[in-house]
Amino acid sequence: MERRGFDLEIVVLLKQVPATETFVEIAGDGASIRTDGIKWVINPYDELAVEEALRIREKHGGTVTVVSAGNEKTLDAVRTALAMGADRGILINDPALKSCDGLGIAKVLAGVLKTIPFDLVIAGQRAVDDENFLVGPAAAEFLNIPSISMVIRAEVTNGVIRCVKSVDGGTMELEARLPLLFTTQRGLNEPRYASLPGIMKAKKKPLEVKTLADFKIDAPSEEATTRIVAMNLPPARKAGRIIQGADARQKAAELVKALREEAGVI
Ligand SMILES: Cc1cc2nc3c(=O)[nH]c(=O)nc-3n(C[C@H](O)[C@H](O)[C@H](O)COP(=O)(O)OP(=O)(O)OC[C@H]3O[C@@H](n4cnc5c(N)ncnc54)[C@H](O)[C@@H]3O)c2cc1C
Repeated sequence: MERRGFDLEIVVLLKQVPATETFVEIAGDGASIRTDGIKWVINPYDELAVEEALRIREKHGGTVTVVSAGNEKTLDAVRTALAMGADRGILINDPALKSCDGLGIAKVLAGVLKTIPFDLVIAGQRAVDDENFLVGPAAAEFLNIPSISMVIRAEVTNGVIRCVKSVDGGTMELEARLPLLFTTQRGLNEPRYASLPGIMKAKKKPLEVKTLADFKIDAPSEEATTRIVAMNLPPARKAGRIIQGADARQKAAELVKALREEAGVI
């Protein structure tokens, strides 16, 4: 359902991911990671999205709704976004999501968005775990609205959004009418922390947990889904070596020898 009101209806697509400091281990199936003991957080690019949504709402008025597809644990990520200041959360928790890939998730999220008012949708450019770089723009395509990727500045005036995006070696400015979806790039803002009063207030904010049936969305077809068949960790790095020598000259000679004979780089 698209709407162009005075106040802005802003939706943030939010994914919960393992914290970057997590020690990742591949599970027994060879195609997933072990999830026991993992600390889960909001995808860092989605934190930028929440922050930007809050700043736009603070300037123009309106509401910020966070939409996430996930499981019971994902409620923590949605609650954190509510504690940062978002107004409403929707979690789609459905066993059928287990057989979804990025495109399937984009279709599901677009199906949810068709049932709620929105002027602006903000997503991360990528989730730092599966790194498909596609859910935001694909959801925009399913919604038949324009999208702008890798945004580092956004300004809304009179139903028009002007975005600055990063391109290799520079920036580019684009303009489009709302409704629109944009994805975030580092440098867009500095996300706020959830304050203690924010955490208390979040407990009273609406947080709906829904299934695909609640939105009348069909489960994604198994035939049109990619499957992760193997995951591989990078090869273990060799330990470093401290070059020995009586003085700087001898150490330099030893370093040149190692670079030539061992590393083969000179
Ligand atoms: C409960 C559950 C179980 C799953 N199990 C599997 C599985 O077993 N095998 C498999 O291959 N895939 C599975 N998936 C799908 C997968 O984990 C990703 O959600 C999906 O592939 C999106 O890919 P990505 O994170 O690489 O997206 P990207 O395109 O890199 O993400 C870009 C942006 O899209 C938005 N976004 C991405 N995912 C979500 C989301 N879930 N909710 C809201 N916004 C989102 C965020 O704004 C994010 O920053 C599962 C998903 C769920 C929810």
